[in-house]
Amino acid sequence: MRRKIIAGNWKMNPGAADFKNLCQDICSQLESEEPNCEVLICPPFPYIVSMLETAKGSALQIGAQNAYFEQKGAYTGEVSPQMLSDLSVNYVILGHSERRKYFGETDAFLRLKVDAALEVGLPVIFCCGESLEERESDSQAEVVGKQLRKALFHLSEESFAKVVIAYEPVWAIGTGKTASPQQAQEMHEFIRTLLSKNVSQKTAEACRILYGGSMKPANAAELLSQKDVDGGLIGGASLKANDFLAIVKTAG
Ligand code: PEP
Repeated sequence: MRRKIIAGNWKMNPGAADFKNLCQDICSQLESEEPNCEVLICPPFPYIVSMLETAKGSALQIGAQNAYFEQKGAYTGEVSPQMLSDLSVNYVILGHSERRKYFGETDAFLRLKVDAALEVGLPVIFCCGESLEERESDSQAEVVGKQLRKALFHLSEESFAKVVIAYEPVWAIGTGKTASPQQAQEMHEFIRTLLSKNVSQKTAEACRILYGGSMKPANAAELLSQKDVDGGLIGGASLKANDFLAIVKTAG
């Protein structure tokens, strides 16, 4: 039985005045009602240390939104997996479509980042997903398959135990358009089949595959009830404690 994960990606939000309140609201709710799933927030880097303090002793886990592929050195502006691991950060998101689009991150570059995170034992949430154009030309399976093959399929079964995949159709991120539960299930099942063929049956059965793209309280139940959907990666709705916690409740 795969334990679901509800992960919030705060991106470059919220403001410094609000993040503590939001974190505290989430922690206190999780304390009064122990969730039956993993709950994670990935704040901007400057908030991580304070959030780890606030979340100590609660069920809330803290993740990072990015990391570099070197562990130290003259790389101005970058943060290494080793640094995040030293802070006891729980996960790092890699390959988000915004990193691919605005920062030119390629699958080959992401492979290096995945390896660097796993080298220090930092669990990875690896994002994949097709653009609207690719969906309209029915090439989503080819696109996602290639992203996974180039960045992940060199990993051993042992390394894969620390990898979570997030399927995030780019056309559904921040747009209010959600993949239908059937579209999500179809892609998640396809990813699981690829895992069984390219890594192992054990990995295919154990790997958590999250859906991301305009998930909110109103659509979470149907998406999360799909057989191969093991949780959600949530942007906009994770910035409202009530909405985020409603999705957590739906997940278990
Ligand atoms: C995301 O950024 O990963 C995401 C899914 O955003 P949203 O929920 O706002 O579509």
